[in-house]
Amino acid sequence: MATILAVGAHPDDVEIGMGGTVAAHTAAGHEVTILDLTRGELSTNGTARERAAEALEAAAILGAAREDLGLPDLGFAVDGESVRALVDVIRRLRPAIVLGPYWEDRHPDHVRCSRLVTEAAFAAGVAKFAPGRAAHRPPLTAYYFINTEAVPSFVIDVSAHYERKLAALAAHRTQFDRSPGHSRGTPLNDPNFLSFVQSRDRLFGAKTGVTFAEGFVCRGLQRIASLTDLTGPAGSE
Ligand SMILES: [Zn+2]
Repeated sequence: MATILAVGAHPDDVEIGMGGTVAAHTAAGHEVTILDLTRGELSTNGTARERAAEALEAAAILGAAREDLGLPDLGFAVDGESVRALVDVIRRLRPAIVLGPYWEDRHPDHVRCSRLVTEAAFAAGVAKFAPGRAAHRPPLTAYYFINTEAVPSFVIDVSAHYERKLAALAAHRTQFDRSPGHSRGTPLNDPNFLSFVQSRDRLFGAKTGVTFAEGFVCRGLQRIASLTDLTGPAGSE
């Protein structure tokens, strides 16, 4: 069984981009940890305390563990301090796979989180960098989509786990529930946003012969052991 580390800038990033993939992998017995760089304390709706409770509820729905690094929302930098903090988590958990947001996104925190994941995944394997815990270079680093999409390097069929993705997103009530008088309108609680996420998952699914799939991008070429590791749409021409 593999250990998987999924990193987001804010609680809900991982759910948006790869909640179905988290659910699919925990259902198969893999250990998944969701790591939020910040507590999303600057979000328009919800306090840090409310968001922390929602984040734990969402992780429980997906069967994942959850931690946060406590970096400042909309203020963290990709520097020695933040790289060392993420390196420490990578060396402690020793994941086979690390995931972060895709590097093109309208939110600067997502772009920085993407860079931080790239840098820390590399630095964690450099023994003389921040000596302490044993070095560990995750064999695979991949990137999931939040506000954008590109041609994925691969997609994961999440059709059987889609209800849990939606339930995990709904658990982030302060972010996705636009109740009059309770929440202020944001791009996130605009119903079009959830439609966008579902449309993207449906598109990647339809292109590969399933109902819902989540897409991922890798920077390098990935090697597979056998042609049979690739399962395309059955009966396609
Ligand atoms: Zn975010």
